[in-house]
Amino acid sequence: MDISSLTITELSSKLAAGELKVADVVAAYRANIAARNAELNVYLEEFATDAAVAAAQARIDAGERGSLLGIPFAIKDNILIEGQRSSASSRALEGYVAPYSSTAAAKIIAAGAICLGRVNMDEFAMGGSTENSAFGVTRNPVAPSRVSGGSSGGSAAAVAANMACFALGSDTGGSIRQPASFCGAVGLKPTYGAVSRHGLIAMSSSLDVIGPITRTVEDANIVLDVLAGVDAMDATTAAFSTEVLPRTKRIGVPRSLLSKGVDADVLANFEASLAHLAQAGYEIVDVNLDKLSYSLAAYYVIMPAEVSSNMARFDGLRFGEKVEGATLLGDYLATRGQLLGAEVRRRIILGTYVLSSGYYDAYYGKARALRDAIRSDVLKVLDTCDVIATPTSPVPAFEVGEKSGDPLSMYLADIFTVGANLVGAPAISIPSGTTPRTDSKGVSAELPLGLHLMARPFGEQVLFDIGQAFETMKADGRR
Ligand code: GLN
Repeated sequence: MDISSLTITELSSKLAAGELKVADVVAAYRANIAARNAELNVYLEEFATDAAVAAAQARIDAGERGSLLGIPFAIKDNILIEGQRSSASSRALEGYVAPYSSTAAAKIIAAGAICLGRVNMDEFAMGGSTENSAFGVTRNPVAPSRVSGGSSGGSAAAVAANMACFALGSDTGGSIRQPASFCGAVGLKPTYGAVSRHGLIAMSSSLDVIGPITRTVEDANIVLDVLAGVDAMDATTAAFSTEVLPRTKRIGVPRSLLSKGVDADVLANFEASLAHLAQAGYEIVDVNLDKLSYSLAAYYVIMPAEVSSNMARFDGLRFGEKVEGATLLGDYLATRGQLLGAEVRRRIILGTYVLSSGYYDAYYGKARALRDAIRSDVLKVLDTCDVIATPTSPVPAFEVGEKSGDPLSMYLADIFTVGANLVGAPAISIPSGTTPRTDSKGVSAELPLGLHLMARPFGEQVLFDIGQAFETMKADGRR
């Protein structure tokens, strides 16, 4: 038995039965990290202590049971744990030590999960490949010449390379779901406000949410149950309603969005996924969501506007690192100019521009109006369907360096994921199969693909139900 490939459910029942000890489980992950981290660049730092391992084991031995008790996980480098470094993969925060814990990490750790360490990401979560990390790219465990996706590429790679049982990521426009799909894991972006953002280094505050990357849909449900809840430290949090949403057993497909720019193998795999869902008893219907095709335009105005505000605090005085200039202004220019990467600076400049007087109404005001229109369109469709289904990404994992010189082509790859953030709706990416690809050096690999489902705000249970039905049908199909 390979301990490190077990799910949360499997591990926790073996720990509870005494078949496994927490120390053995942690040792199995550490061995995998030691074997492959130099090649893949997943962990920036490991920090599980023997004391934490012993404490979890003592709780189990004392008869305590809990879904995450003794389960090792990895944390994205923008989610704070008191006393640990948290750099958001930026030189600007390289030596920053968190003075308090995020609510999300605190809840997971209180439940007895063991944090193995912090993992790589695009700098300040801006990107879709981890190539924007100041500490190097995270390679895809399935095909190391390729990216692991982003911005939570380290989190997805940790799960896919059996370097953690699950991982926490953050999702502003797809950063949990896209890397999960590139690496062959499940990625859940919860409803905006379902999980506290307290202690998450902010990127775009009206879009950001913390969520899990796991091996199965059931595991995503388990982690969300621990993460979710109202938090006095985040006024945008809200409780799940206990009211059960009526189900239509219909799945909406916005065909017009799939008509161009989607890889042929991705499309074929998506059709196969729809066939599985039909076998599981769902009716597949075409839905008109033309406004969703403008979601990238709205996202790439609203997001940089909020980024430019949130990044203002990194001035060299309040947080992290500083580069001395000749004057106070010189300090700001040197610190921000030298310690922030090109993509972060690009977004600050774009965001400052769209918020500047004279352009505010033309760009930011219009993007806000568009966001409202997209939201009402999507919610109307979700009155008649349980979920909206698309592929997670229009392309499978690309090669390291393939898109990094072309930010626009990178932005276009977010087409299927940013809508859920604009709407605040929950969405999940579930492994849907693989496609064979040969890279520019002639190396072949089976690249993972993902099915993306979006439900009504606080409709996570719908995603879990349909997601589990999909996993079952897919597993049966393979046999
Ligand atoms: N790839 C998207 C971007 O670059 C999403 C980022 C995210 O969700 N943090 O903005």
